[in-house]
Amino acid sequence: MRFLPVFLDLSAGELILVGSSRAALAKLHLLRAAGATVRWFSRDSDIAEELVLASHYAGEIGVRIGEPGETDFANALAVVLATDDDGNERLAARARALNVPVNVVDRPDLSTFIFPAIVNRGDVVVAIGTGGASPVLARRLRERIESILPARIGEFANLMKRYRDRLADARRRRPSLSLRRFWERVIDGPIGAAFLAGRTREAESALARAIDDAHTPGRNEQGTVHLVGAGPGDPDLLTLRALHLLQAADVVFYDELVGTDILTRARRDAERIFVGKRKGEPGIGQDEINRRLVQAAKAGKQVVRLKGGDPFIFGRGGEELDHLQHAGVPAFVVPGITAALGCAAEASLPLTFRKQASRLTFVTASTADGAESIDWSGLFDPHTTVVVYMGLSSAAHVRAGLLAAGRDPQTPAAVLARGTRPDSKAVVGRLDDLPALAASAGEGPALLVIGEVVARSAPWQASQTIEVAA
Ligand code: SAH
Repeated sequence: MRFLPVFLDLSAGELILVGSSRAALAKLHLLRAAGATVRWFSRDSDIAEELVLASHYAGEIGVRIGEPGETDFANALAVVLATDDDGNERLAARARALNVPVNVVDRPDLSTFIFPAIVNRGDVVVAIGTGGASPVLARRLRERIESILPARIGEFANLMKRYRDRLADARRRRPSLSLRRFWERVIDGPIGAAFLAGRTREAESALARAIDDAHTPGRNEQGTVHLVGAGPGDPDLLTLRALHLLQAADVVFYDELVGTDILTRARRDAERIFVGKRKGEPGIGQDEINRRLVQAAKAGKQVVRLKGGDPFIFGRGGEELDHLQHAGVPAFVVPGITAALGCAAEASLPLTFRKQASRLTFVTASTADGAESIDWSGLFDPHTTVVVYMGLSSAAHVRAGLLAAGRDPQTPAAVLARGTRPDSKAVVGRLDDLPALAASAGEGPALLVIGEVVARSAPWQASQTIEVAA
């Protein structure tokens, strides 16, 4: 490692920027955004004026025409060179002779420091360096880190900073309190989860309480249950919040719709408990699930109740939420991408379309409810797209219901099975053939989609091509 990442105190002095190139303007932008005081030397006053006017900093930065002198360099916190010509080498040598840190844009060989790619979340800053080897790689890494860092992590750090002294006081009263342990519980426990999920005031008062009572947060407090939507199957379709909660969970209760590639995203030591139904076996039942969720939360655990798709769409999330609230357990819902949205996107099937589909209906044909008992009468309208959940084995009833309501038997229809999973399969045809389509789709889970928009989907277009070719 030639370059060690360190953090420069921008309030300690002035930075010097030399050059009129576009690269110079990019650096100016970076430095100003970070709050640095910049003295900018340009050889060409017109370009400098133009660049300053084009940037947000008109009137804010000092532009000098000409080259910086010895004293300018000697007094600078650091020097950044971005001239177009051989001035770079000469000025870099001068800065080095004066022992002032110098960066030459795109020339790590001439630099005594380089700029990392940064992820900026206020007080939390991540610096990524490749030793100047590949700025593109650094940017790619930055994008990945951006996506895993919660948006409020900087504010969270700020909250802890504000309470540091108060905790130090509390420890004087109770010397056995471990500060490290305390902050770990804050970060990993309910306080951190609440803050990062946007319940900042609740988190702050819990933190204040934990400090005033000088106890380890999470120890005496009850846990929280998050009802989390896991999306339709592809782990990339988890929301960032779902991912963050999985990584902070003590225990994860999951359904049969949640695959192992999603479960592996949970914290390594999290307990994983299957509470779904497997084919031919009775599940443990909703009452027992409710009971276990409450029990785990009361034991102080961070509980994630992971459900396929979205918890509030045919997922009994509403019942679980009711139960938890009645039991006095803090419970929160994290939405997920429901099967209809995931499958439609995968099949390039627009569920609504201007002038063609102005209404979208999600219905369940689960046998518990009985497909016969569904009121299909409102769904005959040719501008309505109907998406049927849990309808694979009752496709004949769905067809009968829609036809009886007056829907055209020639309406395009699709069965989208195991959507967004590696073995996903889409079959398309007409409403009239729905039972045959369902039979050829293979195992569930699967959705039935009926509506004109099905003819816009990729599988439909592909099937037309084959017909034409034949
Ligand atoms: N809460 C879930 C739905 C649970 S009900 C959600 O929002 O998606 C279970 C039904 O969802 C299945 O019978 C099936 O109709 C549908 N389903 C779930 N995942 C699916 C997938 N990957 N592909 C197709 N259908 C799916």
